Amino acid sequence: MADTPPKTVRCPRCTTPAPWQGNPFRPFCSEKCRMVDLGRWAEEEYRVAAEKVDPEQLNNLIPFPEK
Ligand SMILES: [Zn+2]
Repeated sequence: MADTPPKTVRCPRCTTPAPWQGNPFRPFCSEKCRMVDLGRWAEEEYRVAAEKVDPEQLNNLIPFPEK
């Protein structure tokens, strides 16, 4: 019912659970993973990773109003 923000998200890079609140590298666990992922963008490999995104995780990112 209440909108509770996710406490942790799994790093898309290494799947380590990382804090969401106050994490400047989110959704990554660290700057390292973030930079590696940005590097993959350049290689256009990210589209593969994007398909691995958990829909549940997206729901946490974008709260949908429910009737
Ligand atoms: Zn990571």
